[in-house]
Amino acid sequence: MKKIAVVGAGIVGLSVAYKMLLKHKNLDLTIFEKEDKIGSHQSGRNSGVLHCGLYYKPGSLKAKLAVEGIREMTTFCIENEVEHDICGKVVAASNQREALILDGLFKRGVKNGLKGLKFLDSVELKEREPFVSAKKALLVPEEGIVDFKSVMRKLLFHIENMGGKIVYNANILDKNSIGFTHDELDNSFDWIVNCTGLYSDKVYEALAKERRQFRIVPFRGDYYELKPEAKALVNHLIYPVPDPNFPFLGVHFTRMIDGRREVGPNAVLAFKREGYKLNDFSAGELLDSVLYKGLSKFIVSNFKFSINEFKSTLFKSVFLEKARKLIPDINESDLVKGSSGVRAQAMSKEGNLIMDFKIEKVGNQVHVLNAPSPGATSSLAIASYIIENYLDD
Ligand SMILES: Cc1cc2nc3c(=O)[nH]c(=O)nc-3n(C[C@H](O)[C@H](O)[C@H](O)COP(=O)(O)OP(=O)(O)OC[C@H]3O[C@@H](n4cnc5c(N)ncnc54)[C@H](O)[C@@H]3O)c2cc1C
Repeated sequence: MKKIAVVGAGIVGLSVAYKMLLKHKNLDLTIFEKEDKIGSHQSGRNSGVLHCGLYYKPGSLKAKLAVEGIREMTTFCIENEVEHDICGKVVAASNQREALILDGLFKRGVKNGLKGLKFLDSVELKEREPFVSAKKALLVPEEGIVDFKSVMRKLLFHIENMGGKIVYNANILDKNSIGFTHDELDNSFDWIVNCTGLYSDKVYEALAKERRQFRIVPFRGDYYELKPEAKALVNHLIYPVPDPNFPFLGVHFTRMIDGRREVGPNAVLAFKREGYKLNDFSAGELLDSVLYKGLSKFIVSNFKFSINEFKSTLFKSVFLEKARKLIPDINESDLVKGSSGVRAQAMSKEGNLIMDFKIEKVGNQVHVLNAPSPGATSSLAIASYIIENYLDD
């Protein structure tokens, strides 16, 4: 019987465990999770949007696994009665420059195999999202919304039913909390799969005993919520045209599965990997980031972006400006502070954000080193990719 350790009980780790147990009945599988519950970080703190692969470079892993991922995730939701809604989204260009980028996205979407993409005329846009102002608007009908927390609960239910185990409060970086040294862990398991999101680079260094090629740089995303009386401003999903230089999609409007309307997230360099508030701070982690040459290069090359995002976390008025690009009628009084999440974004030492998913095998270990958005949508497809390409012996 093969022994498998999955580290991290976010949606990627849970998907890997679920898919492995589904495929191979005779496995002794243990998930090690440092928190006392599943999905405490990125997977439980995101926009809840099912992305279908509009943005990603054709041929990239993100394009492949988003397209496959949304189909698999939707099927999983149907079979497991997880609430979701394929309501479609509108991507709205605010000026001529963005309209040209949107034309490019349309072509990209077609190449990636998306179905039903359609530019809306002003009457169609008004019918769908009456408050949106746009120079040009693209309808992406295959996208939708879901409750990723329910998805994770179902995954865990199946994992435990198939004999998988989960150990909570087990921080793989802290030998005392797992009861193994790293060498013992390595020798005790046939395969170890690192799905630790915001700590994936550190876990890689500890387990693979190799220097990190990338650094995880935490980008916090703050959300506001629309007050109930302003809910009518948003029917479904409304996105801006993203800046192609960044993997972030820009402040958007989301109808959540429970009916709330969220606005956000921005993308602010955070002082702590799991820092969900502006003043959350870890001296060690900040030093780790500040001493990284890649980060200083990133800030120098993207100074305006970094400052503007930071300002949007300090001043509601700056955040509002981003939201008003899409819905000019929205007022500061319509917004109340919402939650936040932190993206685990890999950055190279040259200061480039790694745009694609990044998965690496070292000996008997597989490390998921970059799985930001649309990682939740793609999680089941990421799991199949890992199993087929690295673990199928
Ligand atoms: C603000 C925001 C909005 C997003 N919106 C969307 C969206 O709408 N749609 C979408 O598809 N994707 C979205 N994403 C991306 C998506 O959430 C991630 O791609 C996905 O959740 C990654 O899952 P994960 O399991 O890799 O990471 P995580 O969910 O972060 O899970 C990692 C797990 O590993 C554990 N862990 C960490 N270190 C250790 C250790 N040393 N020992 C043991 N356990 C450890 C953590 O506690 C955690 O449970 C968004 C992300 C953010 C932050």
